[in-house]
Amino acid sequence: EALNTMDYGPAPESTGHAMDWLKSRGFGHFINGKFISGSETFASINPATGEELAQVAQGTAADIDTAVKAARKAASGWAALSGHQRARHLYALARLMQKRERLFAVLETLDNGKPIRESRDIDVPLAVRHFYHHAGWAELAEVEFPDHRPHGVCGQIIPWNFPLLMLSWKIAPALAAGNTVVLKPAEQTPLTALLFAELCIEAGLPKGVVNIVTGDGTAGAALVEHAGVDKIAFTGSTEVGRKIRHATAGTEKALTLELGGKSPFIVFAEADLDAAIEGVVDAIWFNQGEVCCAGSRILVQESVSEQFTNRLKARMKTLRVGDPLDKSTDIGAVVDQIQRQRICSIVDDAVAQGAVLHQAPAYEGKGSFVSPGLLTGLGAANIANSEEIFGPIVTLMTFRTPNEAVELANNTRYGLAASIWTENITTALDIAAQVKAGIVWVNGTNMFDANAPFGGMRESGFGREGAREGMLAYLAPAAPKGAARKAVDAPSALPEAG
Ligand code: NAD
Repeated sequence: EALNTMDYGPAPESTGHAMDWLKSRGFGHFINGKFISGSETFASINPATGEELAQVAQGTAADIDTAVKAARKAASGWAALSGHQRARHLYALARLMQKRERLFAVLETLDNGKPIRESRDIDVPLAVRHFYHHAGWAELAEVEFPDHRPHGVCGQIIPWNFPLLMLSWKIAPALAAGNTVVLKPAEQTPLTALLFAELCIEAGLPKGVVNIVTGDGTAGAALVEHAGVDKIAFTGSTEVGRKIRHATAGTEKALTLELGGKSPFIVFAEADLDAAIEGVVDAIWFNQGEVCCAGSRILVQESVSEQFTNRLKARMKTLRVGDPLDKSTDIGAVVDQIQRQRICSIVDDAVAQGAVLHQAPAYEGKGSFVSPGLLTGLGAANIANSEEIFGPIVTLMTFRTPNEAVELANNTRYGLAASIWTENITTALDIAAQVKAGIVWVNGTNMFDANAPFGGMRESGFGREGAREGMLAYLAPAAPKGAARKAVDAPSALPEAG
């Protein structure tokens, strides 16, 4: 009952506060409502400077087991709350995140390297919105999904590109649907998840409803394999997604996978080219191009391709690469040196295979910076056409007819998103229906909302996050009437030892 009246305390305002926050804590796993130190730790690094930000616990199979047991213990109590009671907790978390929005934004930028303007204006507000939105779903769940029940314990594994936002995409719907969770953040970016864990305590969330175990892929694999987990939700690379699918095959675990992409950005001759150029900036130079649904393949109609390419090159040169904490920076650091090398090696291979690289001058910062780039003159078999670069480098190819555009757009193993630029609504609707992608934007790109389901086709994964579809992914059909009430309790019959 104290949820509405608690004192949230002052919101830290500056980088100094974020550094103080980091220095004032030792970071353990968040299990059963408290922080538990790990036996081993690893450094979380600021990619813009190469400096260590904090030592974070490396989760072991034993830590995962403790966390899953805590989540299991909390599951029936959490599921038994009314939707309204769960909603109050989600509202409290959303409000506390808003109170700490500055600290979240600075921490995210320090840990990930993304521009502060983006973490402040995009990542954190969208994350907060996800909790508010799903508080609404919690209120409605009993009426909207009367024939469903929560899965029980959800294991959630997230990547480093939108650490807090991916956490909210996972935790908010799971909790709204009445599940408890064990979440493993990416090893590169665990800090905002740990701040979120503190808010769980402050919000009075019942112990064990949210558990966070930090660590690398070995901790993730232990979570996937744990017999006490009822559902796995994973966002990350297609390669790891494939391993998880194998590991869960033949078990009763529910599974959703949000994987990679190679999304086409299709520009027709009659498009508003100024808008389309700004669209490219959003599509591939937002978040250093480390976006699963980045418009990383420009397909432009031949009659305007020369004009478009020249204007794009000029616009690219005006982008400011630099200190992510500087409010005027457009492109910050990529997440680490490994990612930087991965990007550079694909670009080198693409050039060796005949592509032409146009790139803004290199930024001489100490960290892992990659300047924005454009690859043209690609042959059909060029590696940059098929490999997800996951960096600020976009490819450009031309097409003559709409059919050719569709053919090129679908010539990929992925199917996450697509963006179509035209002033002709008939063309837009016709092409949108033919492109194989989970989401298609017309005269826009990278538009997200908690009430718009997001997810892929083909090797981009399956399942949807956000909106009604996203809620359904965290619910299972209820046991038929008259059957023993297996519902929430059924999975606890599984051995808990893992
Ligand atoms: P990754 O697959 O290497 O890692 C993602 C997460 O999985 C991390 O937390 C990691 O520790 C964990 N992990 C690694 N090996 C594991 C294993 N064997 N078992 C269980 N967990 C394991 O991906 P990444 O390089 O961190 O992230 C980039 C990828 O994520 C890109 O391919 C991108 O397209 C994709 N992505 C997809 C979406 C989407 O919604 N479709 C969103 C963001 C990122």
